[in-house]
Amino acid sequence: MKKLEECSEEDVIEHSYKARFIPDKKISGNHRREHCVASLDQINRIGKTIGEQVRIERPTENGTALALYTVVGDHARESDIVFMGYKIRGDLEERFDLNNYPFTGKVEAQVTAEGLSDKQAENCSEFIERLTDNGVNQRLVVIAPHGGNIEKFTDLQADYIREQFSSDHVSEWICKGFKKGGGAYDRWHITSTDISENSFPELKTIMGRHFEYSIAFHGWTKNYICIGGKAAVGLKQEIKEAIEEAISDSGIDVRDSGCEDFDGDNEHNIVNRLGTQGIQIEQSEKARESNYKRIAEEVAKVMRPRIEV
Ligand SMILES: [Zn+2]
Repeated sequence: MKKLEECSEEDVIEHSYKARFIPDKKISGNHRREHCVASLDQINRIGKTIGEQVRIERPTENGTALALYTVVGDHARESDIVFMGYKIRGDLEERFDLNNYPFTGKVEAQVTAEGLSDKQAENCSEFIERLTDNGVNQRLVVIAPHGGNIEKFTDLQADYIREQFSSDHVSEWICKGFKKGGGAYDRWHITSTDISENSFPELKTIMGRHFEYSIAFHGWTKNYICIGGKAAVGLKQEIKEAIEEAISDSGIDVRDSGCEDFDGDNEHNIVNRLGTQGIQIEQSEKARESNYKRIAEEVAKVMRPRIEV
């Protein structure tokens, strides 16, 4: 084994740095509660850069309060300062279990926990990433970036699609986040347009694959289902009609347009970066709870003739 003294400076990679966190209402954008601005030097030192995700951690009396953030910019102030975006003050106070600012803690480079089983991740209130891929498939990738308890049932829907096809035709990428007592969404959610493959090592291995089709399952707080994404209008319409018919008894509205700015057609959306024909399926809680499997079945039916050719 190499002795510590033999390590040159370059050998020592730091994975985190101590920081002071300050709320900043100047950080704008819809997802500012997931955004922070930090010193680029410090971020680079832990192997990260602008546009990537980090963990922000604060030691508390009963453990560690933490949340994922996307670094959206750098600043020229003292290098240990991190400015944090928020919509309401509760975004910070609840997440970090605090009542005054600034607070101290650390910025951690590693976002996903490695080497944990699903059960362990759940017990440890952790966040894990899973890839099922044969290394060459280019037909379809099905994803659920917010599985586990972040957006419940979405990972099961991705699993279902993967199980319907041979690994020559389908790959699957999912993340699962958990938090004991609730709050997995607050802790682990990173919006789809921000997800960087540099923070998700499994995702990185398929990022340059250029799949023909990509499908993302999501959950949201609206009361309907939206079939969005950059895929051809005809394909989205076909999926919409199939789901609509299958769950007509539920009374849940299914749309493929007019989804209040959440059409999933942003080119930065991870689903549109993975596949030429990206399909984003946003679903209400009720739709997922009562119909997650029927929805996935219909998606598989529509996709089968397209990917088994
Ligand atoms: Zn989502």
